[in-house]
Amino acid sequence: MDLKKLARALIPDENLLPPESYEEVYPPRNAEKGAEITRLAPSPTGFIHLGNLYSALADERAAHTTGGVFYLRIEDTDEKRKVEGAVESVIRSLKYFGIKFDEGAEIDSPLNKYGPYYQRQRAEIYRSFAKKLIEEGLAYPCFCSAEELDAVREKQTANKETTGYYGAYAKCRNLSEKEIYNFLAQGKPFVIRLKSQGSIENKFTFRDAIKGDITVTENDQDVVILKSDGIPTYHFAHAIDDHFMRTTLVIRGEEWLSSLPVHLELHKVLGFKPPRYAHTCSLMKMDGATKRKLSKRKDPELSLDYYRKAGYYPLAVVKYLMTVLNSNFEEWTLKNPEGDYRDFKFKIDKMGKSGALFDLEKLCDVSKTEISRLSAEDCFDFLNGWVEEFGFESDKKHFENKEYIIKILNLIMGIGGKKRRKDIERAEQGVRLLDYFFDDTFTHTDVFKTYRGDKSAETVKAVLEGFAKVYDPADDNSQWFAKLKAVASAAGFAGETSDWKAHPENYKGSVSDAAEILRIALTGKANSPDLCTIMGILGKERCLERLSVEKCFARNAAAAEKN
Ligand code: GLU
Repeated sequence: MDLKKLARALIPDENLLPPESYEEVYPPRNAEKGAEITRLAPSPTGFIHLGNLYSALADERAAHTTGGVFYLRIEDTDEKRKVEGAVESVIRSLKYFGIKFDEGAEIDSPLNKYGPYYQRQRAEIYRSFAKKLIEEGLAYPCFCSAEELDAVREKQTANKETTGYYGAYAKCRNLSEKEIYNFLAQGKPFVIRLKSQGSIENKFTFRDAIKGDITVTENDQDVVILKSDGIPTYHFAHAIDDHFMRTTLVIRGEEWLSSLPVHLELHKVLGFKPPRYAHTCSLMKMDGATKRKLSKRKDPELSLDYYRKAGYYPLAVVKYLMTVLNSNFEEWTLKNPEGDYRDFKFKIDKMGKSGALFDLEKLCDVSKTEISRLSAEDCFDFLNGWVEEFGFESDKKHFENKEYIIKILNLIMGIGGKKRRKDIERAEQGVRLLDYFFDDTFTHTDVFKTYRGDKSAETVKAVLEGFAKVYDPADDNSQWFAKLKAVASAAGFAGETSDWKAHPENYKGSVSDAAEILRIALTGKANSPDLCTIMGILGKERCLERLSVEKCFARNAAAAEKN
């Protein structure tokens, strides 16, 4: 058969560049020895998940710890799955977590010499190579219809055989010249398939950069390389792109491991040296006592949006993922608590070989710690960023009063105290801790119901009224406390804890019980940071309003009616 003629008939494009010329168009990069060229190659489906961030972080670290390049390529060969704005969303989401690309789709960079970075815009390159493979007898047209392929699959399944297009099932592999031209004359749609040279009788060892040596079976499937619309499949496109974008290390999920023999064969027939492959293990979670893969359907925490909406501190998410990527990162952070994670020597071969456990509770701890280290100003910026995007209108209003919020943050973060407090876990929860400092979001709580001790109106009244009378915002902490003790004693509480401990039967409670009555009236909560400081922040007028017994009773009545 005249294969050149066949190639022209199947891919008639006149002005394709010869395949060899691409070696000059995309020359090897001028990178130092050992520099890794890595890429994130998502399909623009709009769903960007934790796995993407996990692999992007590994890619970014692998590139930047070796003086290499990390680029973004968009694998948009499947038009049906494409979603408007998906590319911007990938870039924006990763940027939120501090991960930036050096080059690639929508990245404004002088390095962009290996583009276009959208696969659809590279159709000619793929077609040029498909044509070459046809000329070499390494690819052929297949005219099988979807129905025929379904029937083959059914038969294979019934016979418990491997499904696919291979061996005797590869019907179009041996079409005669006449048959092919007849089909073409009839205008029958066709795809181009690889004429696999492999055999499942042969096994070989492959070295994965994470999993180490793996024994795999050669590919014998005549996979589709160009679809009927002339657009390549992922398999074909990625091999060509990784070669010409001069990728040295492909980091991708282990779900691709089963396609590896196909990919290695494609590199071979195309005449390329394959990049190194690193297959990352899946992210798992504990579900009761069992460990299972994170699932898009069951686990909202798989979506990256989840972390932004919940307001986890982005650096905490990255640091926690670093622990999942390289288990010795945790030890490093203990030695370098204030250190920049970028100074840690990330190693691809130290990544876990199987199921990486993702523990939301641990992430929460890391997030708390990172937030507790911020200055009040930086914490304000972080919370404010969240409020602007996800907060209620009332939050937005509150955040206009930066000075007031900074005062609150100084208190709830324990700034200036002996030890920082870790009350803020994430923005969504942290912003709610500010609620009682504002009248419109303060939730009155019925002291009588909430207070643990003597609930008589007389006792509550004595504490609230007694303290309202003597409260002076100019008092320092010890003066404030001395007044509290006096008010507590007058109301029948033990002013000194030692008295309370020695003779509890003589008192209505201890001074801290009296403080609890005040606290509930002022904050609506039984627990809070230092009450004296809270009162200072709230201001005298607001405090007296909240301590007013009549108003308290009226609020109780209103709340009871509402229920
Ligand atoms: N486009 C593939 C995906 O979105 C990328 C796989 C790879 O990194 O090679 O899963």
